[in-house]
Amino acid sequence: MIHFSQVYKRYRNGHEALRRVTLHVERDELVFLTGHSGAGKSTLLRLIMLAERPTRGQIIVNDQNLARLAGRRIAYLRRQIGVVFQDHKLLADRPVFDNVALPLIVAGVPHREIGRRVRAILDKVGLPAKESHYPIMLSGGEQQRVGIARALVNRPALLLADEPTGNLDPDLADEIMALFYEFNRHHVTVVIATHDFRHFQSTEQRVLELRAGELVGSGDVR
Ligand code: ADP
Repeated sequence: MIHFSQVYKRYRNGHEALRRVTLHVERDELVFLTGHSGAGKSTLLRLIMLAERPTRGQIIVNDQNLARLAGRRIAYLRRQIGVVFQDHKLLADRPVFDNVALPLIVAGVPHREIGRRVRAILDKVGLPAKESHYPIMLSGGEQQRVGIARALVNRPALLLADEPTGNLDPDLADEIMALFYEFNRHHVTVVIATHDFRHFQSTEQRVLELRAGELVGSGDVR
């Protein structure tokens, strides 16, 4: 699903955020991406979603060579990727329904289908009765569930999460992690960037560790 070959990323200010990164994430895998703050986790995720371009190296996502994508095919690739952020980036002046419906509206999904899909995904993330609430009326954990619903409503093949539990207390964080595992069981490939090692201490999942822009070892610290 994701293949990096000798990828480098140097920002315009000269900072080298990723160096010689080669990694592979298989279809239907759930992997953790870890490393200290500044290690390059967000940069790596931003390269996958085409928010940044690599300075050198090849990136293939869902069988598409990102270097060859332009125009409409970039938009098409982005629609195959759901993204969850630490601060969830919800629209404060729109109710939950509108927030979750946004990717479907952008994709031109018919009106009636939108209602059906938004309600189905809100049900799956455990928020069946909240569609007319505004984000401010929800707890932090509920807001993150809305962010996850929005990321998954368009049924992407790949879900990227950047510190998705960074603002949550441990119990809520565990509930959010359980949701990721649940969607992964339904064939969504999941990459979770986190520096909270509690999450992967007791799991079988692969852990990719970045240190100052380089992958540690073979890209699999287990
Ligand atoms: P992490 O997500 O692991 O905290 P980041 O990928 O955000 O790491 O950042 C990696 C390094 O790249 C950091 O030193 C950061 O300051 C730098 N960096 C991130 N974004 C930019 C940018 N747009 N311009 C210049 N440097 C950046």
